[in-house]
This record gives sequence, C-alpha cells and structure tokens, in this order.
Amino acid sequence: MTYDTSNIFAKMLRGEIPCNKVYEDTFALAFHDIAPAAPVHILVIPKGEYRNFAEFSTHATPEMLQGFFVSIEKIAAQQKLNDYRLISNNGAGVGQSVQHFHVHILAGKPMGKLLP
Ligand code: AMP
Repeated sequence: MTYDTSNIFAKMLRGEIPCNKVYEDTFALAFHDIAPAAPVHILVIPKGEYRNFAEFSTHATPEMLQGFFVSIEKIAAQQKLNDYRLISNNGAGVGQSVQHFHVHILAGKPMGKLLP
C-alpha cells in the first residue's frame, strides 16, 4: 500500500481544511481532537508522508524522528501538562482510523489501567 494523500490529516497539513491548532514547528502539527476522549486530547502529526508508526520509525530521518518526538514534550509543556498519556494506534486492527501517523496526547483526568 502507498500513502493516500487524500486522508484528512494530509489535507490539514496542506491547509485545505481547518484544524484547531495548538502547536506547529518544522516537524509537527498538533491540534485538538474533534471527538475528545479526555479533557485534554491533542493529536500530533509529523510533516511527512508516513501511514503509521512502523513507517515513521523506519523511514523518517534522525532529525525528523527527534524533532517530532521532542515536539510532543514541547506541547505538553506549553499546555502545562505534568501527567499525560501517549497513544498511537498502528493499524486498523487496533483502531487506527486515519492513515497518517499520529500520536494522541491525553490528559486531564485519572486514567487508571492501560486498557479497560
Ligand atoms: P485513530 O483512531 O487512532 O486513527 O485516531 C484518529 C483520531 O482523529 C480520532 O480520535 C478522531 O476523533 C480524530 N479526528 C478525525 N477527524 C478529525 C478532525 N477533522 N479534526 C480533529 N480530529 C479528528
């Protein structure tokens, strides 16, 4: 399979549809999830064509890998989050619904166990 440039996050990166942006730098764009699962629910996406974590981790440059993951901590600091959970669904079998790699930042309530 190849990267589908018509996915909704790709359209956000191209500015074709709006997003509720919280952060942007050379490597990443972050915005509020449209259907928040917690009081804070931010999505962080890399500025590149990667369908999932597997592709990102194996194809992104070291600079992109570092820049992207550092951006997550920058967002947490910007949002004044001390405690937060990161989730990335890799594949439809575990719930990935948008085929552009993304990390969920979840915070703002007790979350208990990893899985219900
Ligand atoms: P996943 O299910 O892990 O692929 O996560 C995709 C996430 O994208 C879901 O939590 C959706 O609520 C979110 N989402 C879908 N469309 C939009 C949108 N237009 N703006 C913000 N978040 C979106």
